[in-house]
Amino acid sequence: MVEQRAPNAAVSHRSWLIDHGSYRDLQQLEVNVHGHEITSVRFSHHQDGIERPLRGGAALVVQQDALFKALRQRCRDVGVSVLESTRATTPIIERGFLRGALCSTDIELQAEYSVIADGANSTFGRTLGTYRRRDLPYLVAINGVWRSNLAATSTVNIALDLTRSSENSLAGYGWLLPSGAGSMTGGVVVPSTVRDVESINLLQVLDEMVRTHAFRCGLDPDTPLELGRERRLPVGGSVSPILGPTFVVAGDAGSTADPLSGIGVSGSLLSGRLAGEVVADAIDEGASAPLQKYSANLTSALDRRRRIGRVMLPILGHKVGRLALPLAAHSTVAADALLRSTFDTSLRR
Ligand SMILES: Cc1cc2nc3c(=O)[nH]c(=O)nc-3n(C[C@H](O)[C@H](O)[C@H](O)COP(=O)(O)OP(=O)(O)OC[C@H]3O[C@@H](n4cnc5c(N)ncnc54)[C@H](O)[C@@H]3O)c2cc1C
Repeated sequence: MVEQRAPNAAVSHRSWLIDHGSYRDLQQLEVNVHGHEITSVRFSHHQDGIERPLRGGAALVVQQDALFKALRQRCRDVGVSVLESTRATTPIIERGFLRGALCSTDIELQAEYSVIADGANSTFGRTLGTYRRRDLPYLVAINGVWRSNLAATSTVNIALDLTRSSENSLAGYGWLLPSGAGSMTGGVVVPSTVRDVESINLLQVLDEMVRTHAFRCGLDPDTPLELGRERRLPVGGSVSPILGPTFVVAGDAGSTADPLSGIGVSGSLLSGRLAGEVVADAIDEGASAPLQKYSANLTSALDRRRRIGRVMLPILGHKVGRLALPLAAHSTVAADALLRSTFDTSLRR
């Protein structure tokens, strides 16, 4: 396992929203990370809003750094060497097969099989021939962290009133996640199907979203603790191929994030587990044939959401979708439909 980290990277307060399935997967893997339980979602559109209760344990907020630390610890516990501050730079190819990588620290890693999980840009994956299909939509997202005196609440705010700098409404949504410990992570996500997506200043959209909801969420919009960079998120199986004769591609590198919500931890965990299984089978059998199951296994797990995403994202980017989305802040029927379709989340009965 290789991980690249900026040598003096500051501690991040950023949090992720993860679903119950991901949390259960982490517990089964004995990854010891605490989650702040979310009991309701509030859809907001300017001053209007509707709050809907979630089934117990349906969603949790976890601190990103705590999750990374717990994952690294668990890897070490089971005997994995974790190389920090080490970037895989050049693939080692022998007779057409990937057999390892040259690394930034002058280390040469030899590997019979490799799992490529180098994130959304996937520079290493690209050198092996992976590409993102231009005809399929992607998402752009950004987040940041603010101190909040309401961080202990258990309600996630979903903002359906994103605006462009021209003050025209913008499809997509914003979120404010209480961490349970003094801060909230705010973010916005916009589908590539909206007009002029490349020219949108997402930082400005985030700033405006936070200002609109600052009072309700108990935060001061002028003093963010940290601000991220705008990132392009490949989603819904838009990257291929996701396997070669001696490697498989997992996580954002293989576009496993959910196409509608942009939630990606669940797809990363799932693909990581499936990748581990086929690699273990290949080692046991002494042949690479089991790797071929990876693509079918991943497709069967994620195909339903991918199909919905390919239909819905173009509609969302259209004026009709942009005008329909805020209905969820005005009608419980629309709010419940949005929770089920976009967030694939169960409501409390
Ligand atoms: C703004 C924003 C907010 C989001 N919020 C949520 C959320 O609330 N909930 C959720 O579930 N998902 C969220 N997502 C999606 C989620 O972040 C990703 O889907 C998830 O992190 C993917 O995990 P990954 O391991 O595939 O990639 P990453 O988390 O990007 O990890 C890839 C790792 O590989 C390392 N790396 C890259 N290149 C190399 C190399 N050459 N050699 C060695 N290492 C390398 C990187 O440094 C990094 O550590 C969000 C995404 C964005 C952009």
